[in-house]
Amino acid sequence: MPRFISLAALALLLAAPTPESLFGREPPPTPTEHHFAFLVQGPGGPETLQIAAIAPPGQPVEPLAFAAAVAAAIPAATPIPPPAATAAFALDQVRWREPRIPWQYNPAGAPAALEPETAHRAILAGAEGWRFAGGTPVEFLYSGQTTTPTGCAGDPATHPYTRDGANIVGWSTIPGGYLGYTCWWRGTSLVEGTPYFELLEFDIVLSPAYPYTADLLRALVLHEFGHALGLAHSDHCPGAAMCPGEGALVHLEPQPDDLAGLLALYGRTTPPADLPVRARLPHLARD
Ligand SMILES: [Zn+2]
Repeated sequence: MPRFISLAALALLLAAPTPESLFGREPPPTPTEHHFAFLVQGPGGPETLQIAAIAPPGQPVEPLAFAAAVAAAIPAATPIPPPAATAAFALDQVRWREPRIPWQYNPAGAPAALEPETAHRAILAGAEGWRFAGGTPVEFLYSGQTTTPTGCAGDPATHPYTRDGANIVGWSTIPGGYLGYTCWWRGTSLVEGTPYFELLEFDIVLSPAYPYTADLLRALVLHEFGHALGLAHSDHCPGAAMCPGEGALVHLEPQPDDLAGLLALYGRTTPPADLPVRARLPHLARD
């Protein structure tokens, strides 16, 4: 079992307040406190380092600079959600051991409202939106079309949900009127060096009973592939690709809250030189 150790540090940043501002007639502004947490490698396994930093009243601070300084000082430190922070992104406590994830597309049953190639391109673009997002090593590797059905399509009473070793995106009428869903299987062991269980397989099922445009389909697929990475629904709504309901049909690229969640799961890698804008680091403090 991983061992968790909490260290709390109190940092007073920038200049101290003057005696006048401390003892003057006006009440001092409420101090802002930022919480940070990092997964680090300890001598006996993974450890969690937590930092609570308080800002001088009424003065701006730079949480991103502070977090970057901590991360730079500790080899392999990975930002994770601080327990005391305002909840925003949420995690399903699962991730892939190897974050280069193969998948295939089964076009059978696609809606007539979209040209097959338009739907195909929108689905590819949704998956591609997560490539190296947030500076993580995450990448979905498309390996072409298939006739293999998804492992969790339709009514489970007539189509038993089975793990077949293939990650498939496909179309099927969904009981209950849902627009789409992601199913995944996870193992019982943790990915080494992380507190997350290992993802073994995912399938994404899309309902053909919806008047899609190419952008609506792309946004939905981006959202579902986010689930396939281990992201749960965000509380930062509207404003995140991982928002539930109608919020899942808005964003064509991961948003800062989504990227913060992805970083928590997969950490940062050395990015290639030609990273797109979406791969810039998000802010780590989320008060
Ligand atoms: Zn969802």
